[in-house]
This record gives sequence, structure tokens and C-alpha cells, in this order.
Amino acid sequence: MEQYCILGRIGEGAHGIVFKAKHVETGEIVALKKVALRRLEDGIPNQALREIKALQEIEDSQYVVQLKAVFPHGAGFVLAFEYMLSDLAEVLRHAQRPLAQAQVKSYLQMLLKGVAFCHANNIVHRDLKPANLLISASGQLKIADFGLARVFSSDGSRLYTHQVATRWYRAPELLYGARQYNQGVDLWAVGCILGELLNGSPLFPGENDIEQLCCVLRILGTPSPQVWPEITELPDYNKISFKEQAPVPLEEVLPDASPQALDLLGRFLLYPPLQRIAASQALLHQYFFTAPLPAHPSELPIPHRPGGPTPKAHPGPPHVHDFHVDQPLEESLLNPELIRPFILEG
Ligand code: ADP
Ligand code: MG
Repeated sequence: MEQYCILGRIGEGAHGIVFKAKHVETGEIVALKKVALRRLEDGIPNQALREIKALQEIEDSQYVVQLKAVFPHGAGFVLAFEYMLSDLAEVLRHAQRPLAQAQVKSYLQMLLKGVAFCHANNIVHRDLKPANLLISASGQLKIADFGLARVFSSDGSRLYTHQVATRWYRAPELLYGARQYNQGVDLWAVGCILGELLNGSPLFPGENDIEQLCCVLRILGTPSPQVWPEITELPDYNKISFKEQAPVPLEEVLPDASPQALDLLGRFLLYPPLQRIAASQALLHQYFFTAPLPAHPSELPIPHRPGGPTPKAHPGPPHVHDFHVDQPLEESLLNPELIRPFILEG
């Protein structure tokens, strides 16, 4: 740590403060993320280790923020990342909205390249949202914050807590309590981000978990076992019932979006997770090959980094860590605070 001189505080998220710093010898500017340890009973600093493990496996994609070094520090770790000027949430707050079509295509294309890379390496990010998509001074988008990523086991046999992904971007299977899930949760989040880029504001801004499902249902219609057979096996399927609602055509929801944009959006926002279009397939969609073509990063809005520190600066939904991600499953099932949103009155 003595190798770095701290230049200022650039952000604070759920599990750490992020500082801008300069390497004393090389002059290289980095972002240092202090990660406090939250020890499980077996003493493994799981959140930090998970992030480090995931990042080490994917560090050589230009669409994933590069981890340069890891140091033990006090009771935790410091991760040194390449320095990025801003994040997509910040850019969207300051950009003229809605963004030009070519700009939306460019952001989506970079996001999909990063997601395709993660998925090809069996990593599910689990918390894709604009604040976790960092933007470099030259307009390049890179995926960050692998605090929730976990190496995905392809046999689907691992059980995960369903309280992952910040609510607005959380897939319906998670809202219905799924404990086994796959890359589909990221593809849903990509759909939500595309919708937000096209719309100029979040597509499904639910204020609690039940309302989150309502927001989704209002547009996609009530999910039925005909459309999504596996829904009946989800833990909370019988606890929640909604009145039948028909889907609203996406062109009515986003009247200004192009037919190709809507076609691609509809392929992400599907109820059955395995039917969602894979990131690698989405990159081949007509949308990216019809005019206007994706903008060059230099034609994207100039990233904006507010002058002062930005602790908790992003207004938005409560973070996933409000939900005790690493609580043992049994405990979270028994905790009425955690399941209350899923229990219908009467
Ligand atoms: P958390 O898990 O606490 O959300 P993040 O990794 O998302 O942590 O970092 C929180 C915020 O800090 C980000 O939204 C971003 O604004 C800023 N930040 C994180 N990493 C970098 C980086 N490499 N360069 C510049 N800013 C960063
Ligand atoms: Mg974050």
C-alpha cells in the first residue's frame, strides 16, 4: 500500500470505499477498492475472495475492468483496478436523453461483449446495472463490481441465495424465489439496461419486491405455466398470485424505438430464463448491422466525474446487500423480514 499515494475518494458502494490513487514509482493512476471482511463461520472472507477469484479468471477482456493487484490490508484487502473516469449511471444522469440510437447500440455492444466473455468463462455477474458499468475517459464501457459474481457450475446443482441483483434489474425467477439459476439472470439485466437506454428511465422501477414483479407483469403480462412451465416449481409461485394481465406490445411501451431494437429487447425480456438470447448470439442480431451503426466510443457522451467525493451518490434501488446475501439459506427462509414481500395477505 505504501506504493500508492491516495488522491481522493471516488465512490462508495455496498462493501467498500473506492479511492483514486497514484503509484509512487510508475505514476500509474488506479482505483483502490478497500474490501472489508465479512467472515463466515469458517473464517473465509467470502465476498472479497469471490470477487478476486472471479476477476482473476477473466482479467484479460477489454470489456471487464482490469484488476492490477491485490494486497492484504488491515482486516481486509485492497484491490487495485485500472482507473475509470465514470460509470454509466453517472453518464446517463448528465447526458441528453434519450440517447441517440447509435450511442445506445454502442453501449449495448460493449456490455454484450463483456457479458459474453464472462459467460464463456462460466461466470455469472449477478449484479449488472448502470452503476457497475464503468466508463473510461475514451468512452469505453467495462463491467465492474464482481462482488457478487461466483463461478457458475454448469450442472446447475449449486444452490444460490435468490436475493441477488439490485431490484430493478432482478430477473423474474429470482423474484419468485429461484435458488438455482444461470446466465439468464444477467441476460434479463441486460434487457433492463437496454430498455433504460432506449427509454431514458428505468423500465421496471419497483419500490419493493412485490411491486417489482407488478412492474414486470404490467408489461410482459402474467406469467402462465403455458409460457413458462418451470414457474410452478419456483418456491414463491404459490405464495404470490396476480390477476390475469395480457402483455403490452413493446412498441407501445417504447414508441420511439426501432423495430430491431424492440425485437432484440423482446429476446432478453422473456420469462423462461433458458429462452433468453445468449450474449454471443445477441451480438449477431440485425440491430447492430442496420443504420445507424454503433457509435465509436469517441462519439459517446463525455464521461462526467463529479468534483467531490460521491459516497452513496447514486440514487436507485436498495442494494442487494440489504438482503444479507450470505445468510445460510435456511435462515433466510425463516426470517420473516426476508420473506414478507412474498407472502400475500389472506
Ligand atoms: P460496490 O460493490 O461497493 O458497489 P463498486 O466496485 O461498484 O463497489 O464501486 C463503487 C463505485 O466506485 C462505482 O459505482 C464507481 O463509481 C466507483 N469505482 C469502482 N471501481 C472503479 C474504477 N476502477 N475506477 C473508477 N471508479 C471506480
Ligand atoms: Mg457497485
